[in-house]
Amino acid sequence: MSGYRHQWWDQTPMDLPVGKIVCVGRNYAAHAVELNNPIPTEPLLFMKPASALTPLDAPIRLPQDRGAVHFETELAVLIGQRLTAAAETDARGAIIGYGLALDLTLRDLQARLKENGHPWERAKAFDGACPLSPFIPPDQLGDPAALRFTLELDGKPRQTGNTDQMLTPVLPLIAHISQTFTLEPGDVVLTGTPEGVGELTSGQTLTLTLGEMRMGSTTVV
Ligand code: ZN
Repeated sequence: MSGYRHQWWDQTPMDLPVGKIVCVGRNYAAHAVELNNPIPTEPLLFMKPASALTPLDAPIRLPQDRGAVHFETELAVLIGQRLTAAAETDARGAIIGYGLALDLTLRDLQARLKENGHPWERAKAFDGACPLSPFIPPDQLGDPAALRFTLELDGKPRQTGNTDQMLTPVLPLIAHISQTFTLEPGDVVLTGTPEGVGELTSGQTLTLTLGEMRMGSTTVV
Protein backbone atom coordinates (compact mmCIF):
# COMPACT_ATOMS: atom_id res chain seq x y z
CA MET A 1 0.00 0.00 0.00
CA SER A 2 1.03 3.58 -0.67
CA GLY A 3 0.33 4.70 2.91
CA TYR A 4 -1.76 7.53 1.50
CA ARG A 5 -4.08 9.41 3.90
CA HIS A 6 -6.07 12.58 3.19
CA GLN A 7 -4.49 15.55 4.93
CA TRP A 8 -4.89 19.29 5.28
CA TRP A 9 -2.59 21.87 3.81
CA ASP A 10 -0.84 22.31 7.20
CA GLN A 11 -0.09 18.53 7.35
CA THR A 12 -2.90 17.87 9.85
CA PRO A 13 -4.37 14.42 9.13
CA MET A 14 -8.09 14.29 8.36
CA ASP A 15 -10.59 12.09 10.11
CA LEU A 16 -11.90 10.88 6.76
CA PRO A 17 -11.64 7.51 4.98
CA VAL A 18 -9.90 7.21 1.62
CA GLY A 19 -12.55 6.44 -0.96
CA LYS A 20 -12.84 6.11 -4.71
CA ILE A 21 -11.50 8.60 -7.24
CA VAL A 22 -13.95 9.74 -9.88
CA CYS A 23 -12.26 11.27 -12.93
CA VAL A 24 -13.53 13.32 -15.82
CA GLY A 25 -12.07 13.04 -19.30
CA ARG A 26 -11.99 15.91 -21.81
CA ASN A 27 -13.35 18.64 -19.51
CA TYR A 28 -11.19 21.29 -21.20
CA ALA A 29 -11.81 21.76 -24.92
CA ALA A 30 -8.17 22.56 -25.77
CA HIS A 31 -7.00 19.27 -24.23
CA ALA A 32 -9.60 17.21 -26.14
CA VAL A 33 -8.31 18.84 -29.33
CA GLU A 34 -4.63 18.17 -28.55
CA LEU A 35 -5.32 14.41 -28.33
CA ASN A 36 -7.62 14.47 -31.40
CA ASN A 37 -10.64 13.54 -29.31
CA PRO A 38 -14.17 14.83 -29.90
CA ILE A 39 -15.53 17.33 -27.34
CA PRO A 40 -18.08 15.39 -25.27
CA THR A 41 -21.68 16.51 -24.91
CA GLU A 42 -21.82 15.29 -21.29
CA PRO A 43 -19.03 14.54 -18.78
CA LEU A 44 -16.96 11.46 -19.68
CA LEU A 45 -16.53 9.61 -16.37
CA PHE A 46 -14.11 6.93 -15.26
CA MET A 47 -12.64 5.86 -11.90
CA LYS A 48 -9.38 5.04 -10.23
CA PRO A 49 -9.29 2.83 -7.12
CA ALA A 50 -8.00 4.11 -3.77
CA SER A 51 -4.94 1.88 -4.28
CA ALA A 52 -3.81 4.26 -7.07
CA LEU A 53 -3.30 7.08 -4.54
CA THR A 54 0.11 8.20 -3.40
CA PRO A 55 1.15 11.43 -1.66
CA LEU A 56 2.16 14.11 -4.17
CA ASP A 57 5.58 14.56 -2.58
CA ALA A 58 6.49 10.84 -2.87
CA PRO A 59 8.77 10.01 -5.84
CA ILE A 60 6.96 8.84 -8.97
CA ARG A 61 8.01 5.33 -9.96
CA LEU A 62 7.21 4.79 -13.63
CA PRO A 63 5.70 1.40 -14.55
CA GLN A 64 8.29 -0.51 -16.55
CA ASP A 65 7.80 -1.89 -20.06
CA ARG A 66 4.27 -0.56 -20.44
CA GLY A 67 4.98 2.37 -22.79
CA ALA A 68 4.77 6.14 -22.30
CA VAL A 69 3.42 7.52 -19.01
CA HIS A 70 1.78 10.94 -19.39
CA PHE A 71 1.15 13.54 -16.67
CA GLU A 72 -2.22 15.32 -16.50
CA THR A 73 -2.49 18.08 -13.87
CA GLU A 74 -5.97 18.38 -12.41
CA LEU A 75 -7.93 20.20 -9.72
CA ALA A 76 -8.97 17.62 -7.09
CA VAL A 77 -12.15 18.03 -5.07
CA LEU A 78 -12.50 16.23 -1.73
CA ILE A 79 -16.01 15.17 -0.76
CA GLY A 80 -16.97 15.47 2.91
CA GLN A 81 -20.64 14.46 2.85
CA ARG A 82 -22.66 11.76 1.15
CA LEU A 83 -24.25 12.98 -2.10
CA THR A 84 -26.95 11.11 -4.03
CA ALA A 85 -28.82 12.78 -6.90
CA ALA A 86 -27.75 16.14 -5.52
CA ALA A 87 -28.43 19.67 -6.72
CA GLU A 88 -25.59 22.17 -7.21
CA THR A 89 -26.31 23.89 -3.89
CA ASP A 90 -25.92 20.54 -2.07
CA ALA A 91 -22.71 19.89 -4.00
CA ARG A 92 -21.20 23.15 -2.74
CA GLY A 93 -21.90 22.20 0.89
CA ALA A 94 -20.42 18.72 0.46
CA ILE A 95 -16.98 19.90 -0.72
CA ILE A 96 -14.52 19.84 2.17
CA GLY A 97 -11.33 20.77 0.32
CA TYR A 98 -9.51 21.48 -2.92
CA GLY A 99 -6.13 20.14 -3.96
CA LEU A 100 -4.18 19.14 -7.06
CA ALA A 101 -3.60 15.69 -8.50
CA LEU A 102 -1.73 14.05 -11.33
CA ASP A 103 -3.87 11.71 -13.42
CA LEU A 104 -0.99 9.50 -14.59
CA THR A 105 -1.85 7.65 -17.78
CA LEU A 106 -0.17 4.87 -19.72
CA ARG A 107 -0.85 6.66 -23.01
CA ASP A 108 0.23 3.99 -25.51
CA LEU A 109 -1.79 1.38 -23.66
CA GLN A 110 -4.79 3.74 -23.40
CA ALA A 111 -4.64 4.31 -27.19
CA ARG A 112 -4.82 0.54 -27.76
CA LEU A 113 -7.69 0.17 -25.29
CA LYS A 114 -9.60 3.02 -26.97
CA GLU A 115 -9.07 1.46 -30.41
CA ASN A 116 -10.59 -1.78 -29.15
CA GLY A 117 -13.44 -0.09 -27.28
CA HIS A 118 -12.13 -1.45 -23.97
CA PRO A 119 -12.26 0.21 -20.53
CA TRP A 120 -9.31 2.43 -19.56
CA GLU A 121 -8.47 0.99 -16.12
CA ARG A 122 -5.33 -0.83 -17.27
CA ALA A 123 -3.96 2.56 -18.36
CA LYS A 124 -5.28 4.70 -15.51
CA ALA A 125 -5.66 2.63 -12.33
CA PHE A 126 -2.20 1.20 -11.71
CA ASP A 127 -0.56 1.55 -8.27
CA GLY A 128 0.73 5.11 -7.93
CA ALA A 129 -1.40 6.39 -10.84
CA CYS A 130 -2.83 9.20 -8.71
CA PRO A 131 -0.33 11.41 -6.83
CA LEU A 132 -2.50 13.71 -4.69
CA SER A 133 -1.70 16.89 -2.73
CA PRO A 134 -3.00 17.93 0.69
CA PHE A 135 -6.25 19.91 0.69
CA ILE A 136 -7.20 23.55 1.28
CA PRO A 137 -10.61 24.39 2.78
CA PRO A 138 -12.95 26.05 0.23
CA ASP A 139 -13.23 29.26 2.26
CA GLN A 140 -9.49 29.85 1.86
CA LEU A 141 -9.53 29.64 -1.93
CA GLY A 142 -12.29 31.76 -3.41
CA ASP A 143 -14.59 30.99 -6.30
CA PRO A 144 -14.20 27.36 -7.48
CA ALA A 145 -15.29 28.54 -10.95
CA ALA A 146 -12.16 30.73 -11.30
CA LEU A 147 -9.22 28.85 -9.81
CA ARG A 148 -5.86 28.98 -11.58
CA PHE A 149 -3.36 26.12 -11.27
CA THR A 150 0.00 25.33 -12.79
CA LEU A 151 2.48 22.53 -13.28
CA GLU A 152 6.14 23.45 -13.55
CA LEU A 153 8.36 20.82 -15.12
CA ASP A 154 12.03 21.22 -14.18
CA GLY A 155 11.29 24.81 -13.14
CA LYS A 156 9.51 25.83 -16.35
CA PRO A 157 5.73 26.35 -16.68
CA ARG A 158 4.27 23.38 -18.56
CA GLN A 159 0.52 23.23 -17.84
CA THR A 160 -1.66 26.15 -16.80
CA GLY A 161 -5.34 25.68 -16.16
CA ASN A 162 -8.15 27.85 -14.97
CA THR A 163 -11.39 26.26 -13.86
CA ASP A 164 -13.24 28.97 -15.82
CA GLN A 165 -12.24 26.99 -18.96
CA MET A 166 -14.02 23.79 -17.84
CA LEU A 167 -16.76 22.51 -20.13
CA THR A 168 -18.64 21.32 -17.00
CA PRO A 169 -17.65 23.48 -13.98
CA VAL A 170 -17.01 22.01 -10.53
CA LEU A 171 -20.45 22.33 -8.91
CA PRO A 172 -22.53 21.10 -11.89
CA LEU A 173 -19.95 18.33 -12.34
CA ILE A 174 -20.28 17.08 -8.74
CA ALA A 175 -24.08 17.27 -9.00
CA HIS A 176 -23.97 15.37 -12.32
CA ILE A 177 -21.72 12.62 -10.94
CA SER A 178 -24.07 12.18 -7.97
CA GLN A 179 -26.94 11.56 -10.41
CA THR A 180 -24.95 8.59 -11.74
CA PHE A 181 -23.61 7.10 -8.52
CA THR A 182 -23.32 8.13 -4.87
CA LEU A 183 -20.32 10.16 -3.73
CA GLU A 184 -19.24 9.37 -0.18
CA PRO A 185 -17.11 11.12 2.43
CA GLY A 186 -13.47 10.64 1.48
CA ASP A 187 -14.12 10.29 -2.25
CA VAL A 188 -12.10 12.53 -4.58
CA VAL A 189 -13.18 13.99 -7.90
CA LEU A 190 -10.52 14.78 -10.50
CA THR A 191 -11.93 17.47 -12.76
CA GLY A 192 -9.97 17.03 -15.99
CA THR A 193 -6.73 18.35 -17.43
CA PRO A 194 -6.03 21.48 -19.45
CA GLU A 195 -3.81 21.22 -22.53
CA GLY A 196 -0.08 20.66 -22.27
CA VAL A 197 0.03 17.00 -21.21
CA GLY A 198 3.23 15.12 -21.96
CA GLU A 199 5.47 12.18 -21.20
CA LEU A 200 7.29 11.69 -17.91
CA THR A 201 10.94 10.69 -17.97
CA SER A 202 13.14 9.81 -15.03
CA GLY A 203 14.97 12.69 -13.42
CA GLN A 204 12.21 15.25 -13.96
CA THR A 205 10.94 17.46 -11.12
CA LEU A 206 7.27 18.47 -11.04
CA THR A 207 5.94 21.34 -8.92
CA LEU A 208 2.21 22.04 -8.57
CA THR A 209 0.66 25.38 -7.57
CA LEU A 210 -3.00 26.16 -6.87
CA GLY A 211 -3.79 29.90 -6.87
CA GLU A 212 -0.87 31.29 -4.88
CA MET A 213 -0.36 28.09 -2.85
CA ARG A 214 2.48 25.75 -3.66
CA MET A 215 0.86 22.32 -3.24
CA GLY A 216 3.93 20.12 -3.50
CA SER A 217 6.76 18.85 -5.57
CA THR A 218 7.85 15.41 -6.74
CA THR A 219 10.56 13.78 -8.79
CA VAL A 220 10.41 10.95 -11.31
CA VAL A 221 12.70 8.02 -10.52
ZN1 ZN B 1 -7.30 13.22 -16.69
